[in-house]
Formats: sequence, structure tokens, C-alpha cells
Amino acid sequence: MPAKTVTVQRPELNFWEKIYLPEIFRGLWITASKFWRNIFVHTAHRLGLMKSVEAAVTIQYPEEMRPTSPRLRTRHRLTQREDGSPRCVSCMMCETVCPAHCIYIVAGEHPDPNVEKAPKSFVLDLGKCVYCGFCVEACPEDAIRMDTQIHTIAAYSREEMILDMQELLNPSPGGMPQKTFYGKKS
Ligand code: SF4
Ligand code: SF4
Repeated sequence: MPAKTVTVQRPELNFWEKIYLPEIFRGLWITASKFWRNIFVHTAHRLGLMKSVEAAVTIQYPEEMRPTSPRLRTRHRLTQREDGSPRCVSCMMCETVCPAHCIYIVAGEHPDPNVEKAPKSFVLDLGKCVYCGFCVEACPEDAIRMDTQIHTIAAYSREEMILDMQELLNPSPGGMPQKTFYGKKS
């Protein structure tokens, strides 16, 4: 079936919109009026007044964060066995399925003869990850999950976005594992 083409008419600007200045002042007026209204109502709330009037609610990010849905795909973690070792058996399914090629696993022997393999190294480059969740879906051992509720992945360098096995087994709660300030590790 041929695609239907819809022609969208651009709205015509009137004289006042074409000279911009009235629109700029209108925008400034809206911003300033909301700002002063919120200052006034928040101050009144502090004094125990106007409790029934709502003011804008601001989340003090990143100290304060909104709760997110448990279904949200957040930073990865590797699940552990009872002895603390990774559940991963280095089957390479996640590495193979990953469309961004950002998982790198080096397989090794596991000390328990009942477990065929274990990762000697498991590295995930968050700078390349597209958060598709395919790795979680492909894993036959429930060894990798994206349920840490950590969505802060800001870093000062690409290297800091590369997570090693230790970090994946015990994700840093605040966000990225190493914080740097202007390139200097703290
Ligand atoms: S979420 Fe997708 S892109 Fe990221 S590591 Fe898993 S498979 Fe790769
Ligand atoms: S799919 Fe699961 S068990 Fe296989 S290598 Fe990845 S994390 Fe390990």
C-alpha cells in the first residue's frame, strides 16, 4: 500500500511574533512570575501559612532522586553464588548477543568440578552500552541483571565508564566507581 503523504501547513507568524521582542518579554514575564510566586508560597509554607496552596516541587538531584519503576533497566550487576563467586559460567551468550559489542569475557577453570567454567575477567563498557537488556535475556544462569536502580553514568573519561568484574559484583551505590575532579582521581 503506498504511503499517505500529509502536508503540514506552517503557521503564519503575525506582525508582533515576527519582531520577536514582545514574545521575549512575554517569556521573561512567565518565568519571573512563576519564580516569585514559588518563592512567596514556599516562604509562606515555612511560616505555616497557605498550606492548601501548592508550590512547584523541586527534586534536589542528585542528593534526592525520584523512585523509579523496578522494571527500569538500570546499571548492570553480576549475581553471586552463596560463596560470593560470580554465578556466571562464561558461556559467552551475553557477549555474543550484545549489539554494541561492549562485553568482554575471559573464561577460566572453576575450582568446583561441578561448574565447568567461570570468568577470569568480565568487563562491560558502559560508554558503548545501549541498555537494550539483551544480555540479561540471553543469560541462562540469571548471572547478569540490570536492576541496581543506578542510572548515574556520568564520568570524566571513557576509561571510568568501563566496569570490571569487581565493580559488577559489588556496584558502587552512588553511581560510577571512581569519581574524578578535572581528570584527577579523588
Ligand atoms: S544492555 Fe545491551 S548493549 Fe548493554 S551490555 Fe547488555 S546486551 Fe550489550
Ligand atoms: S550469558 Fe550469563 S552465564 Fe553466560 S557469560 Fe554472560 S553472564 Fe555469564
